[in-house]
Amino acid sequence: MDEGKRATVAKELERVVGGKYVRADDVTRWTYAIEDFGSTFFHPLSDKYGTPDIVVKPHSAQQVSDIVKLANVHKMPIIARGGGSDMTGAATPLKGVGGIILDMTDMNQVIDYQEGLNAVRVQPGIRWGELHHELAKKGITTGVRGPHGFLGGTLGGGISGNCFSINSPKYGWVNENVLNLQVVLPNGDIIETGSLANTKVKDWYYRYCHGPDVVGIFLGGAGAFGVITEFTIKTYPIPEFSENLAYSFPDVDSQLGFMFKLEWYGYVTELWGIAYFALPDSLKKIIGPLLGERDIVALTTEAYDQDIFRAQKKAVDRMAREFGGTPLPVGGLMKALGLSVTDTTEWEGGATFGKVMGPNGSDTCSIAPLPRWAKVVEGVLEIMLRDPDALSGSVPMIGADRFFIFPQILASGGVCQSVAMLPVDFSDPEKLKKAQKLYSDIVDFYLDTGLAAIYRIGKESQYLMKRLKPEYISFMKTLKKALDPNNIMNPGVLGLGLEEEQ
Ligand SMILES: Cc1cc2nc3c(=O)[nH]c(=O)nc-3n(C[C@H](O)[C@H](O)[C@H](O)COP(=O)(O)OP(=O)(O)OC[C@H]3O[C@@H](n4cnc5c(N)ncnc54)[C@H](O)[C@@H]3O)c2cc1C
Repeated sequence: MDEGKRATVAKELERVVGGKYVRADDVTRWTYAIEDFGSTFFHPLSDKYGTPDIVVKPHSAQQVSDIVKLANVHKMPIIARGGGSDMTGAATPLKGVGGIILDMTDMNQVIDYQEGLNAVRVQPGIRWGELHHELAKKGITTGVRGPHGFLGGTLGGGISGNCFSINSPKYGWVNENVLNLQVVLPNGDIIETGSLANTKVKDWYYRYCHGPDVVGIFLGGAGAFGVITEFTIKTYPIPEFSENLAYSFPDVDSQLGFMFKLEWYGYVTELWGIAYFALPDSLKKIIGPLLGERDIVALTTEAYDQDIFRAQKKAVDRMAREFGGTPLPVGGLMKALGLSVTDTTEWEGGATFGKVMGPNGSDTCSIAPLPRWAKVVEGVLEIMLRDPDALSGSVPMIGADRFFIFPQILASGGVCQSVAMLPVDFSDPEKLKKAQKLYSDIVDFYLDTGLAAIYRIGKESQYLMKRLKPEYISFMKTLKKALDPNNIMNPGVLGLGLEEEQ
């Protein structure tokens, strides 16, 4: 965009939000051209991304609406951004396309909590850590507690990016906990969904009424269909009794069998698996001599009543032994050290995690049915090992200087995920190119084998366009065109809103 036009639009935006909340200088623009990885940084493994033209911070739905109307006049993209930690580049502009970043983090208030409704109404820019802090004063929690190790993400980014969460095995994905929304549509209209669509309703929230579930269009919508400006999410009392337990298993089949049954029976709040074969050599050297070549399950079990809690722990233990499990003292050890993998209070903000991982490349966000997990990870490992020199210089604390794959099984409704983290040396263009190739091969593998699905992919539409059924693509494009005829809402994300693809 030429400087003259940038200055004109910036002036108009200043009239909406005030001069203090509009920035068009180079430092700010470059800051928003990368994602924030827990105070280090993250960069998409793709050459597609670039700087925005202007960054603006709105403080109300009305301001968002006015900005969206301005963007329509100037045919400029609008990219809503929360914590900027999505790890797929979804909240980062396309290179050469730019646009206006709507930094939502000042819209971070708890608006309403009603005990009888067991729900809290919030603005989307509130960070998970901030919300827990507020809710804990009332002895409540959202059930789903936000992304693992990164409570600096916002709730708005979470629901727009299909976030799975701490406690998903019990409470489902974040979006399964959303009741209704206030959204600014691409034409600037402000709508309320569910029970709030009735002009007479001011303060009670239900999702499934007045026709089809309109909320669903915006959840996982990555800001392509509107900007979420308020929403309601379910709440629960904070459980009084909670404990982390860990077991080791002789093989992956027993490990997965245990996890599947455990989640199915509803005994766990949080559930992770670590498969020995998927660990980098540096970790094998530590874990092997300590535990043998065994596969680990770490879990949290919680209850509101002591008798139920005790009975639940006994049932978990019985089930683990049924699958050949041996208890590990890890839970107690973590408690003694004041650390916990599953209760992330200590990880709040993600700074620790970010520093452990170091600069990173795109996360290949995949989900698969739990029984298929080992097959998916075997495939990904085979690809990573093809060119281990491509991935380097990172994960300093565990010494995994070549690559690292999260051997994580997140069982929610029998669904698990494998996060292939690609540590990259961004200062070496040759290595970067190789890492991009690995990323691409892994995503191709997920989609071509049909073993896994992608729950988040940013603007890498080329993968989706080749594999999704034409009727589905056509339906999505029809929706997009009807709602956003000027293609201003986060163009390129989900493969939508790019001229050449219309
Ligand atoms: C250490 C670490 C651990 C992580 N663990 C997990 C995990 O366990 N599970 C998981 O799912 N992810 C995880 N992530 C990824 C990320 O933190 C989460 O997905 C988080 O929910 C993203 O929130 P955000 O506010 O940073 O979103 P952003 O990156 O800012 O935005 C994400 C998407 O939402 C859109 N958006 C943002 N706000 C709005 C709005 N108000 N209206 C409309 N669209 C909007 C953006 O345009 C973009 O498309 C992790 C990341 C890190 C760095």
